[in-house]
Amino acid sequence: MKKIYYAFLLAVTIFGCKKSNEPLENKVKIPIEIIQKLKAAGFDTSEGLHEHGDGYIVEGDIFLTKSDIDRLSENPKSKISLSLNLKDRLFQSKDPIGHYVSNLLTANNGIRNISIYINPSFQQYIKDGLDLAISRYNALEFGLTFSRSTSSSTADIVISTVFIDPNNKPNNVTAYLMSSGFPTNGNPYNQILVNTYYYNSSSFYADIASTLAHEIGHAIGFRHTDYMDRAFSCGIVADGNNEGGNANHIRGTSPNPVSGSWMLACANGVDRPFTDEDILALNGTYPKLRNVYVKQVGTLISDDSYLIGCCDDRTLLSHNFTLEFYQDQNLTIPYTTTNNFVVKVFEYSGSSQLTRVFLVPNGATSYDLGTFITDVTYSYGTEVQNNTSGYSLAPFGGYYLAP
Ligand SMILES: [Zn+2]
Repeated sequence: MKKIYYAFLLAVTIFGCKKSNEPLENKVKIPIEIIQKLKAAGFDTSEGLHEHGDGYIVEGDIFLTKSDIDRLSENPKSKISLSLNLKDRLFQSKDPIGHYVSNLLTANNGIRNISIYINPSFQQYIKDGLDLAISRYNALEFGLTFSRSTSSSTADIVISTVFIDPNNKPNNVTAYLMSSGFPTNGNPYNQILVNTYYYNSSSFYADIASTLAHEIGHAIGFRHTDYMDRAFSCGIVADGNNEGGNANHIRGTSPNPVSGSWMLACANGVDRPFTDEDILALNGTYPKLRNVYVKQVGTLISDDSYLIGCCDDRTLLSHNFTLEFYQDQNLTIPYTTTNNFVVKVFEYSGSSQLTRVFLVPNGATSYDLGTFITDVTYSYGTEVQNNTSGYSLAPFGGYYLAP
């Protein structure tokens, strides 16, 4: 048995064997329009796709009903300020690995609490793993908090048992470790199923906390960070695992592969607390509002603007932009950052402006955004070319309430 296993689907050998032995009709039964809708939404349909209940298990551990799948093509009606638009999607192919979100929760002009109920029949180490997962989320101090609920009827997410024996399972059922889904109607997906074939009185999984955190991550909208290249965490996988697609990249998370994320497609049995990238993804997606005033200070480095002939001119300015943080609107009392302070800025590329986030180190009173180059060519006063680049809080100076 190989050490790498399909996240949250147990061993790759189980999966691999099943794949080769699987009757062809199991795949044929999935309607082509379902596959097309999933592909259009950026899901990998080449493996880990099975009919399940009144919907489908996608990418191994994501449960989507047929209506969920229909909704994938709708624009997310999220009120989260960081929900990204179509422009961002044009950049997807340039981002080999990053953090990605699906539809999001409607939260928040403040903090939203997500209550989780776990079936009491689970082993104590699983309940302890849930408590650890919750405490890790809450330690981030972002726009969501999590708590245990004593009532399944009032909980936002219910963690329930399911029993699927991989050796004796009904047709079209995947013997996953755990499954979850994406938010619907602005609320978290309400069910995480844990397969007691694997999680039982004789089992112990050292990565139980990060596995539960992973499934909770799906329930609040996060996709696999390597959804377009599952080989990154899964090793060599079946053909067609790189799917492209239109998951929403959280700009500011690394464009380079980062190991150890809680949302990698595959786990290796090792506990994975949140990485800095994970923290930025969570805080950037669901920011906690803070009463902090942010001033952008621009220092002119050079002005190489010039006239072209009679009627054209080029504005060519180089600035250094720094953000300063203050407690008061008069900008006199510095604010010292703490607890995963995230700033949201615009990333300029020509005339396009895309939102991105930065994680500011603790203990800072300012943050250097680096060089901002204004490079615009005008003809008879009309802009004909724009090569502006850099990061800026806004197109003009001033101060803003963070984030
Ligand atoms: Zn997953």
